[in-house]
Amino acid sequence: MFSDLTEKLNDIFKVIKSKGVITEKDLDNALREIKFALLEADVNYKVVKDFTKELKEELKGKELEKSLTPGQIVVEEVHKKLTEILGGQAQPLTITKTPFIIMLVGLQGSGKTTTAAKLAKFLRSKGRQPLLVACDIYRPAAIKQLQILGKQINIDVFSKENSKPEDIAKEALNYAKQNGKNVIIIDTAGRLHIDDELMEELERIKQKIEPDEILFVADAMIGQEAVNVAKVFDERVGITGAIFTKLDGDARGGAALSIMKVVGKPIKFAGVGEKISDFEPFYPDRVASRILG
Ligand code: GDP
Repeated sequence: MFSDLTEKLNDIFKVIKSKGVITEKDLDNALREIKFALLEADVNYKVVKDFTKELKEELKGKELEKSLTPGQIVVEEVHKKLTEILGGQAQPLTITKTPFIIMLVGLQGSGKTTTAAKLAKFLRSKGRQPLLVACDIYRPAAIKQLQILGKQINIDVFSKENSKPEDIAKEALNYAKQNGKNVIIIDTAGRLHIDDELMEELERIKQKIEPDEILFVADAMIGQEAVNVAKVFDERVGITGAIFTKLDGDARGGAALSIMKVVGKPIKFAGVGEKISDFEPFYPDRVASRILG
């Protein structure tokens, strides 16, 4: 998905690496082109501005004119900075108690239900006993979808008719305790747009079961809007991290590159396809390497 950005950065690096000496003008040119490449990839404007400003300061201190491979130093610094804006150190999901409660929030269509199943399967592969919980009571199709996915991967799905989402979540917690499930993953309702009612419902669920993680599921295809929406969810409900879905698509990916700086919450996982196995933990340095090609 970062292929356009990778291509552009590689072109810039090719020019800069071919130079035996990098003058201030060469560096300014390269930085300007990097800035355009990031903006074209839909990275948040302020993030890009800070990125190039800090990169310039770092590179000034490196005394490029004294180096035999100045181009390589530029590439290494870009990698370092990219890793940093993606969150720096990987912050993997750490299960700290039993049952560990994970609540997934986000807009309708962001990939919540699919992600719930992906996450459940991933955690089971790490030796956990997950329970999926269907709290999207407004869309019977969503409950059915989770049940089908649960069956497919052989993971229990807790659902209940005619109950409030917060009560379903609470009951699911009791069910988990009684049935040896040590992680519960709650699929909540989404709307096409943010609305008060949805936020209040999420707040009620949060109050009732006190989740250990509230992960915002973001559709990478909607670009910067995903970052704006994450901000609102964070202000209203308080998120602990994000999962970007559809990173396999042809979106430009700038949202994933902006969320840590704009919202201050780490990306924990990435969805990279429609299959349940198309899911991976998010490692900023590996993603930065992938972007640099
Ligand atoms: P929800 O409304 O948030 O629960 O979203 P769904 O889980 O129903 O997902 C919406 C659509 O996105 C479905 O067609 C999923 O197959 C698709 N989807 C979810 N995650 C990914 C992903 O990582 N990559 C791709 N290509 N499609 C995805």
